[in-house]
Amino acid sequence: NLVAIPAYADNYIWMLHDARQALVVDPGEAAPVMRALDAQRLTLGGILVTHHHPDHVDGIGELRERLHGPVFGPVRERIPQPCTPLAGGDHCEVLGLGFDVIDVPGHTAGHIAYVHRPADAAPILFCGDTLFSAGCGRLFEGTAEQMHTSLAKLAALPGDTRVCCAHEYTLSNLRFAAAVEADNAEIGAYTEWCETQRSRKQPTLPSTLARERAINPFLRCGEPAVVRAAQAHGAADDSGPAVFAALREWKNVFR
Ligand code: ZN
Ligand code: FE
Repeated sequence: NLVAIPAYADNYIWMLHDARQALVVDPGEAAPVMRALDAQRLTLGGILVTHHHPDHVDGIGELRERLHGPVFGPVRERIPQPCTPLAGGDHCEVLGLGFDVIDVPGHTAGHIAYVHRPADAAPILFCGDTLFSAGCGRLFEGTAEQMHTSLAKLAALPGDTRVCCAHEYTLSNLRFAAAVEADNAEIGAYTEWCETQRSRKQPTLPSTLARERAINPFLRCGEPAVVRAAQAHGAADDSGPAVFAALREWKNVFR
């Protein structure tokens, strides 16, 4: 079972559980995780961390009292210890589930993502603050070129991959996506669906990679309409990194 536990104003702490044991990803707060564990009498068997920001790690200390298992996190970042360090290419196991690690620098310098490939279901991607539905993370520590490369790695995963982002930013991202690509009908249809979800207080996530490739401007830096829009907003040329950099800067000031 894959569950999004709301935390803070717009974070999701993802939980995978089998009705007995659970693992959580990026627990920025302990209380909502404890409530979710208690509600279903689950044991906490592991924690995965994608990057060092407080809204992703600040619940770890309190959760350790309940934790029967490892904490995994990025080797290049300072994560509350003890924590088993991981880097791209590594593989880890929690509750008998395997996760492949991908380096995705850009939002932070050492950000990692986790991919689980169940034998009988679509892959699951925990991408932290790198890829959002219809958007991507801000560049706090990395370059546009790094983030562009990181997103390309994620975009290469299978189309049915379930994209588990750490924030509910979808509707505001979609307003920007529509400004970039006014003629993309899938953006309008997806926006309607997301508005219905939010009006029912339901998450818009997980998304899928196929959908993100169709509507997320940051994964569409080679599309002619996206290139034209980026060039109208300062892209130096029509290369992927230049288009991405212009989109990211435009989004930073977009209202
Ligand atoms: Zn962050
Ligand atoms: Fe965050």
